[in-house]
Amino acid sequence: MPKVAVVEDNELNLKLFRDLLLTEALEVVDTMDGTKAYDLINNERPDLILMDIQLQGMSGLDVIRQVKADDQLKDIPIIAVTAFAMKDDEAKIMESGCDAYISKPISILSFMERVRFYLGIKEEQRMIC
Ligand code: MN
Repeated sequence: MPKVAVVEDNELNLKLFRDLLLTEALEVVDTMDGTKAYDLINNERPDLILMDIQLQGMSGLDVIRQVKADDQLKDIPIIAVTAFAMKDDEAKIMESGCDAYISKPISILSFMERVRFYLGIKEEQRMIC
């Protein structure tokens, strides 16, 4: 079962992401604390990371840089999730090394399309729950 790590400090968003991922029969590990994200990712070795940018304590961009600087972890795809999408921010987000980013409020269809794309799940292999 593919595993997705979710780093998100907003309880409602975290619940939404968890529910969507569980509907796809994916395993979910999560933290709301940016300072715990690196250890979570290092311990769990997820197949995909969803990373909120605006976190308490530590920017999601710094977590992304940390993960992408680690040879053991750098190949894990990261989708950044952000509430702001100004042109400057967009460049900063992509420079951090993430593979893609989506803005909140998310479109559920395109969110799931991204997730399936990075996990290599084809439509016909989807599990119906
Ligand atoms: Mn946040």
